[in-house]
Amino acid sequence: MRAMKLQSGARVAVAGAGALGSAAALRLARFGFRVTVFDPAPLWANASGVAAGMLAPMSEALFDPPSREHLNLMRRARDLWPDFALALDIELARSGVRVEGRPAWRDEVLARIRALGAPETTYIAEDWRLDARQALSALRAAAQEAGAVFEAVAVDAFEPGALRLADGRNERFEALVLATGPGARDGTLAPETAHLAPIKGQILRAPCKGGADLPVIRGEGVYLAPGASLAIGATMEHGRDDLAPDVEATRSLRAAANALRPDLDLEGAEIDVGVRVTTPDGLPLVGWSRKPGVLLAVGARRNGWLFAPLVADLVAAYLTGDNLGSDAEAMNARRFEASKS
Ligand SMILES: Cc1cc2nc3c(=O)[nH]c(=O)nc-3n(C[C@H](O)[C@H](O)[C@H](O)COP(=O)(O)OP(=O)(O)OC[C@H]3O[C@@H](n4cnc5c(N)ncnc54)[C@H](O)[C@@H]3O)c2cc1C
Repeated sequence: MRAMKLQSGARVAVAGAGALGSAAALRLARFGFRVTVFDPAPLWANASGVAAGMLAPMSEALFDPPSREHLNLMRRARDLWPDFALALDIELARSGVRVEGRPAWRDEVLARIRALGAPETTYIAEDWRLDARQALSALRAAAQEAGAVFEAVAVDAFEPGALRLADGRNERFEALVLATGPGARDGTLAPETAHLAPIKGQILRAPCKGGADLPVIRGEGVYLAPGASLAIGATMEHGRDDLAPDVEATRSLRAAANALRPDLDLEGAEIDVGVRVTTPDGLPLVGWSRKPGVLLAVGARRNGWLFAPLVADLVAAYLTGDNLGSDAEAMNARRFEASKS
C-alpha cells in the first residue's frame, strides 16, 4: 500500500462533487490542504442529488440484505451527523420510519427486527433523514468558504505530482481523492474500481401533502419519504448505469405505493434517476489505492449520505497520517485484492 502523509498546504485534488467528494473536500480544506474539486456535472446531477436522503441504519439492515451485517457500523456513521449537520445548517428530520403493509409481511419484518436485537415495533425511531439537495448545496458552500475550489471538468489521469484533466490541462497535485461514484470504473485512475458494480435507481416525486416532519412510510417494496416533494423509491436495477427514465421499470414501485395509499395519484409524478455503485459487501472503498497517490472514497451503495461524514473523516485521517479509528478496516479500499502488499 502506498501510504503517504501530507503536510498542511499540500495540493489535493478531489474527483467528484457528490456527497462523498464534497464532504471530503470540506474536511480537507478545513485541515489546511489546498483543495480543488473537479466534476464536469452540474450540482445535483448525480446520485447524491437524486437520493431520498435517509440516514437509516435500521431500515437498511432490514430491507437491503448486504447491509444486515453492518448495522452497528451504520449507526456509528449516523451518530456523526448531528454535529456535522449543525455546523452546516443542514436540517435533520428525526420523525422516524413507520412500517405499514399486509399483516403477514409486517410480522416478517418484526421477526427481522427481533433478529437484529432491536425493540420489536413497527415504528423505527432511530432512522433520520435530510434533504439531499439542500445538504449538497450546503456542503459545497461550506467547502468553498473553507477555501476549496470547484472546477467543472473531469479528471482523466493521475500520477503523483501530475493530474491530467479532460480539457488537456496538466496540473500539479500531490494526491487525488477518487470520489467519482459510478464514473471512472475502467481502472485507469485506480484498479480497485474493478470491484464496483452499478445499480440504477429511479425515484418518483409527487406533491407532498402534510408536513416534512411526518415519518417515512416503509411498505413492501417501497418507501414514501415526505419533504419538499414526496419521494417514492426506489428501483434497484442491478448492472445498469444509464440515466434514462423508464416508466416500465417503475410499475411495481407505483403499484406498491398505491397498495399503501390508494388515493396517491402518480400519473403526473416526475421520475428522477441516479446510479448508485456498490462493492460486493455493500460498504464503500475508502483508503489508498495500489496506484500511488490515489485515495479512494467510492462505492457507498444506498448509503452515500449516511456514510459521508465518516468517509470524510477517514479520508482526512489517511492524508494526515492521523489515527484511522476502528471502522477503517471494514472499508479498506484494497480488501477485495488478492494481495494487499
Ligand atoms: C434513487 C436513489 C435513492 C437513494 N437514497 C439514498 C438515501 O436515502 N440515503 C443515502 O444515504 N443514500 C441514498 N442513495 C445513495 C446515494 O445517493 C449514493 O450512495 C451517494 O450519492 C454516492 O455519493 P458519491 O459522492 O459517492 O457519488 P455521486 O453522487 O454519484 O457523485 C459522483 C460524482 O463524480 C463525478 N465524476 C465521475 N467521473 C468523474 C471524473 N473522471 N472526474 C471528475 N468527476 C467525475 C460525477 O459527475 C458525479 O457528480 C440513493 C441513491 C439513489 C440512486
